[in-house]
Amino acid sequence: MGSFKLKLIVYFTLIALLPFVAAFNGLETITDRNETRRADGALETGVRAAQAALADELARADRELARLAADPSFQSALTTRNRSGLRRFAARHEIRIAARGLDFGILDETAVQRSVFVVGRKGRLGRIVSGIPIDRRLAETLRRRAGLGTGGEVAIVRDGQIVAGSGSLAGNVELPREPIEMAVAGRRFRALASEMLNEPPGAALLVLAPQARIDESIGWLRSRLFAGMLIALLLIGLVAYLEGRSIVRTLGRLSEAARGIARGRLGDRVAIQGSDEFASLGLAFNDMADQLQARLGELEEERQRLREATLRFGEALAATHDIDQLLRVIVETAVEATGATCGELATDDGRVLVSLGDGRGPEKLEFPLSAGRDTFGTLSLYGSEFTADQSESANWFVGHAVIALSNAQRHRAVQQQALVDSLTGLANRRLCTAALEKELARAQRFGEPLTFVLADIDDFKRINDRWGHPTGDEVLKAFAQCLSGNIREIDLAGRWGGEEFALLLPGTDLEGGRLLAERIRSALEMHGLPAPDGEPVSVTASFGVASFPDVTGEDELVAAADAALYAAKRDGKNAVALAAPVAVTNPA
Ligand code: GH3
Ligand code: MG
Ligand code: MG
Repeated sequence: MGSFKLKLIVYFTLIALLPFVAAFNGLETITDRNETRRADGALETGVRAAQAALADELARADRELARLAADPSFQSALTTRNRSGLRRFAARHEIRIAARGLDFGILDETAVQRSVFVVGRKGRLGRIVSGIPIDRRLAETLRRRAGLGTGGEVAIVRDGQIVAGSGSLAGNVELPREPIEMAVAGRRFRALASEMLNEPPGAALLVLAPQARIDESIGWLRSRLFAGMLIALLLIGLVAYLEGRSIVRTLGRLSEAARGIARGRLGDRVAIQGSDEFASLGLAFNDMADQLQARLGELEEERQRLREATLRFGEALAATHDIDQLLRVIVETAVEATGATCGELATDDGRVLVSLGDGRGPEKLEFPLSAGRDTFGTLSLYGSEFTADQSESANWFVGHAVIALSNAQRHRAVQQQALVDSLTGLANRRLCTAALEKELARAQRFGEPLTFVLADIDDFKRINDRWGHPTGDEVLKAFAQCLSGNIREIDLAGRWGGEEFALLLPGTDLEGGRLLAERIRSALEMHGLPAPDGEPVSVTASFGVASFPDVTGEDELVAAADAALYAAKRDGKNAVALAAPVAVTNPA
């Protein structure tokens, strides 16, 4: 994190550095030029001031001469030709006095000479001449007046040579008409010369400003510029640091929240500040977290639903072998697990076995419920949309359901084998006993009659002997059908064993039982039973009838019916006998 802040500062500074260096270079050149121009301006002013100072000096000499020429004592000395007086005047005023036959004072040849006529009341008396020496003193005066500041110099130059200079200037120099840099007497100057002067003729003024001073002020300006640039760069660095710190903090908050979510704290959100790109990143992050949370909630709900459905499904599969109930559970579970709006189970020939929900969606999933030779139809699920997961879990349910259905089928077959007689399809003795027990309990509870009949085919051995065992079987089957055909829905016919059969008649009393037995007996007697070759086999049977409440208890009922049957046999067969104490009815 820290490195990003550092990078940002470096980037900002580098980005700022290039234009800064360019600007610094440009400004430096401009300052240098400006400073030089300022120095040159001062030089030009200096030249003009020095020229004016020279003119002033000359004018002052003129004024002094004029004053002397008008002095009455001087005029009288001239008039009286007072030689000693005139000599004194010449020495005091450093002048030359020339009159008729008189000439006093000597002037320096190099000096600038000024002359004036002395005119008295009687006309011109003579001429006086003064000389302004071109020397160091004059140069110093000009320098002072030129206002050049410390180190500035003025020189009077004639024929490329300094004739008089302030300071200790001497030697050969050129006379630049534009300011230039030059060395004079071993020192470096910025220099500018005046035009050629009228007085002294052939001479010019050279004004000099020390280059060191110009350089110094340029250097000072440069360092100020540099300091300014450095401060600006520092400020940029500071701004980059502060900006970087704020960015780094924002990023830190984001990554902290992201870590929180990664650790499962789905409620973590980022605080949003402002409306910049970071704020919108934060908003997008919070949106993502919301979505995640919602999605996880949905997933959890879905998982819970699936878990419950699986649990109930497992329980249902384990609890029942009833195929119809199983089929219903399968459709319910599949509808619930897939969120289908409607589920339907139909046989292959289109018969609908189970139908749940309504409003068929556009999507349809189909699962054939078949395993090996067992087929239980096709499960169709309708909904608006099914995910791959939902389709997969439905498939999983169906897979398990088919196994459960096959098991139930097996179970049902085994159960039937255990309770049904395989030859005649009637209830076997076990089922008869169970039914007797159940019905007896019912009859006792409701105080209703119950009749139990035992029937035995007469001389069945002989049928076997005569027609063969298979025909005997056919006779047994036909007899069973005869029994079934003569009883009511609520009655039960069963094979008690061998060629012995039982009838259980709830709600029927002894007399009712007798009538039924009698009807069967007489029907047999009249029509016999069909044999394989179509010829009816003449068959008769004997019946023993016992009833609750005349006889109480299962075993007692069976024993009473058996005893009555025995009695019927003993009395000559083809008869119906009633359990004691009622008398046996014989055939007519
Ligand atoms: P009664 O009139 O005294 O009842 O004489 P019966 O010959 O009918 O009785 P018995 O007990 O002497 O013989 C019963 C015969 O029934 C013996 C047995 O071989 C035959 N039998 C028993 N079960 C079956 C069967 O399932 N199929 C065939 N074909 N014969 C059977
Ligand atoms: Mg028998
Ligand atoms: Mg018999």
